[in-house]
Amino acid sequence: MATASLTIDLDAIAANWRALDRMTAAGAQTGAVVKADCYGLGAARVARALAQAGARRFFVAVAEEAAAVRQALGPGPQISVFSGHMAGDAELIRGLDLTPMLNSIDQITRHLEALPGHPFGIQLDTGMNRLGMEAGEWEAVAEVVLAAGPELLMSHLACADEPDHPMNAAQLAEFHAMTDGIGVPRSLSATGGILLGEAYHFDLTRPGIGLYGGLPFEQARRVVTLSLPVVQLREVSLGETVGYANSWTAEGPTVVATVSGGYADGLPRSLSNNAVFWDGNVPCPLIGRVSMDLITVDVSHLPEMPETLDLIGPHQSPDDLAEAAGTIGYEILTSLGARYTRRYTGSGA
Ligand SMILES: *Cc1c(COP(=O)(O)O)cnc(C)c1O
Repeated sequence: MATASLTIDLDAIAANWRALDRMTAAGAQTGAVVKADCYGLGAARVARALAQAGARRFFVAVAEEAAAVRQALGPGPQISVFSGHMAGDAELIRGLDLTPMLNSIDQITRHLEALPGHPFGIQLDTGMNRLGMEAGEWEAVAEVVLAAGPELLMSHLACADEPDHPMNAAQLAEFHAMTDGIGVPRSLSATGGILLGEAYHFDLTRPGIGLYGGLPFEQARRVVTLSLPVVQLREVSLGETVGYANSWTAEGPTVVATVSGGYADGLPRSLSNNAVFWDGNVPCPLIGRVSMDLITVDVSHLPEMPETLDLIGPHQSPDDLAEAAGTIGYEILTSLGARYTRRYTGSGA
């Protein structure tokens, strides 16, 4: 089989949830963000592992994503939708028992008209200018909205991965100004905000990337291994070139492994001539261009020819790979391709 395999350690995900839960202020609940197919790792299996670890409140980006999550979790756990209540969403919201986080006066009107009495939350903008109502809008509708009984008031931090950034304190102050004294449960922090300390935790936190082993949660357990099968080995000699555009030239006799995986599997072209694979503990340089389905690797120094080479594993996290590619770990994870065979390990598997 030439399909690369992506191994996902469900015990590590559960351990990361529990570790973030222990860091969360007493009395505050720890949710779990499962948008984008659990950051590319597979919504059904991962959401179930998170529920087994103790998560009761889940967040997705759009209502359609919630179908797989609801099917995996069954009735009971709350699934909230960051994009709120869009036109045409009422059936999904009712059918899957979703809790939309309403972002605008339009969405509030739509929700209260289409599904009166159905649970909802409110998203407030504290400075990121992406989703949620600004202070003036909120002031105008707060009375009507509060009479309808929102379950949650939430906002999102723009710079939480930089603890010393003044934006954090500014957004915290704005969130207090918009929500103090209202008596509705509040949520401000994702992974980065949890690490900023208890002042940022309020009643519910919303970690995503930290659950999946990514920065800024440095103590996270590694979750993902990505192994690419070697399809072919060949020897090239001094002066021969490898791959598209002849972008790599042998400086001496070289053994080249061609592995199965490429940019169609979410491995960025910017890794071309600029990353390493691992055979166990031994690094092997990626040579030439990353193409759609294949990558070439220098394995001249290996005593035995490997059947697979790892691109993500104990020696190279998604964040390490992201650094080589000029992106962030979030993008590496959420780009992980549909062609991989996903294998789940751990007691929840
Ligand atoms: C994606 C997202 C999260 C989770 O963020 P992480 O940095 O992955 O922990 C939380 N809240 C909102 C609104 C988000 O969009």
